[in-house]
Amino acid sequence: MKRVALLGATGSIGRQAIEIVEAHPELELCAAASGSTPLDDVDAPLKEVGGDLTGLLERAQPDVVLNAVVGFAGIHATLWALEHGVDLALANKESLVAAGELALAARERGRGRILPVDSEHSALFQCLEGREPEQVDTLVLTGSGGPFRGRTRAELEDVTPEQALAHPTWRMGPKITVDSATLANKGLEVIEAHYLFGLPYDRIEVAIQPTSIVHSLVRFRDGASLAHLGYPDMRVPISYALTYPARAATPLPPLDLTSLTLEFSPPDTETFPMLSLARAAGQEGGSAPCVYNAANEVAVAAFLAGRLPFLAIPEVVGETLAAAGTDPARDVDDLVEADRAARELAEGALATA
Ligand code: NAD
Ligand code: MG
Repeated sequence: MKRVALLGATGSIGRQAIEIVEAHPELELCAAASGSTPLDDVDAPLKEVGGDLTGLLERAQPDVVLNAVVGFAGIHATLWALEHGVDLALANKESLVAAGELALAARERGRGRILPVDSEHSALFQCLEGREPEQVDTLVLTGSGGPFRGRTRAELEDVTPEQALAHPTWRMGPKITVDSATLANKGLEVIEAHYLFGLPYDRIEVAIQPTSIVHSLVRFRDGASLAHLGYPDMRVPISYALTYPARAATPLPPLDLTSLTLEFSPPDTETFPMLSLARAAGQEGGSAPCVYNAANEVAVAAFLAGRLPFLAIPEVVGETLAAAGTDPARDVDDLVEADRAARELAEGALATA
């Protein structure tokens, strides 16, 4: 029996994870947590709405932590799992982006594993399994391009939260859906891939593949590339991470090749500057990725609340990055302070945006 602690149980990933756990007799929920939504319909011996996630994990002593919390709020749970050598099924990319080297150091001490749940990183993880690092040339993260793919800046001036929330291929929580519309999600994913797989940023590329069938690919030094294909359904990477290495069955139909269109194009980084800003923050290192993430969280919340135009999201993030200190965090307290200070700067930038 594998005992799963599910954090973010009421969210989009959380609900699909419950479906996977219920379908597999070898998986059992030992704990569930949400931010504020009640957990009445979730069947777990330990439950917590709000409050301290690490206290819950201490009591639950899980075999695997599925961190499906949204945003920086997932940071302590990620570090707890890595520090304690407990498998971390990671959906909460923001925590790895923000913690960066600190997370890697915790993993080194705890000897834990990160099993990526983000579909692109699950794909890369699978394509890389059993290969030596020196065989790898580049990683290519794919993305749908979001609901505004192909639009010009002028056409994005008046877009509403409702329009940004209409994602063409994935049904997800509101924050990541807006991130997909700005390409901040792909930006966070480039940084996530850097920390997960240890490649420098100039060997992590992004390609737009509008139907989200190719989930990412690895180019090897001999000219061969391995890609991961499947329908866009998060139950597959969730199941892969929770049942690793067994690759248990899911109810999805096999891929019908005759019905696919596979076209690729480069991302439009001029219209969607969040991708280049993420690369710059990643290259800068230190707490710059933490600042990028914090400012983005503030800007997205303001956009969803109708307080910020869509095109001002990268302005707020760019201004915050320019103003914030980016010294590396020595410990988690430093990191929490970097996040707090960046949020304060971003709130200031909102006022002038
Ligand atoms: P969501 O908004 O649907 O759900 C978020 C969950 O986090 C909710 O259960 C909420 O109660 C919980 N939460 C929020 N703040 C919390 C706090 N302080 N403490 C405890 N719980 C808290 O979000 P989602 O779409 O499920 O995404 C979750 C994470 O997974 C994000 O990091 C996202 O980037 C990542 N992800 C999601 C998808 C997807 O298909 N939804 C795909 C890839 C990665
Ligand atoms: Mg993804």
